Amino acid sequence: MKRVVKKIAALFFFTVFFILFSFLVLIGGKGNSNSIAEETNVEVITAAGEFVGPYENDNYVITSDVGDRALDGMHMGMDLDAGYGAKIIALTDAVVYRASNTCEPSGGYLGNWCPFDNVASGGGNYVILKFYYEDQDYYMQYAHLATVAVKTGDMVKKGQVIGTQGHSGNSTGSHLHAEVHYGGVYAGSTINWVTPRTFLEFK
Ligand SMILES: [Zn+2]
Repeated sequence: MKRVVKKIAALFFFTVFFILFSFLVLIGGKGNSNSIAEETNVEVITAAGEFVGPYENDNYVITSDVGDRALDGMHMGMDLDAGYGAKIIALTDAVVYRASNTCEPSGGYLGNWCPFDNVASGGGNYVILKFYYEDQDYYMQYAHLATVAVKTGDMVKKGQVIGTQGHSGNSTGSHLHAEVHYGGVYAGSTINWVTPRTFLEFK
């Protein structure tokens, strides 16, 4: 009789521990499903005419358009100025493909290749938003920011503030550099390049 009680007790404790263990594994698994890698695979599809920005209003000037220029050769983005610290907003609902804020907010100069990464070297503090438009994945980079208000893997809403205009990285003065590529991030290159005018009507 005693042996039977012992067996039942052992079975009881085993069951309790098994349930507890399973529960902990489940909790751990849930944590993993929120990882950056999975979140950046979320597809955000945007229809034509639904883009906004890059500032909260139209009080900005174009300081350098896309195209060839004497300063540094081919310019792959639009340079805009709404004043240092002006809020910059997301053009559409999007995934923050990458956000970086390791550079001096106003420490820009020509040849300052901060952040020294393989994604956007010289872009200073930057945010890259990923979204889909007409079955293609696009990557809009907002560069030379002073502050960055989002982090990699975040979901942002159209019009949400993602950072402020600054003077970080390879920059001669306070401005926003907006650049777009599809199929991946090819900052500063002609690979898979499209003009930001594809999405935004610059005034
Ligand atoms: Zn630029």
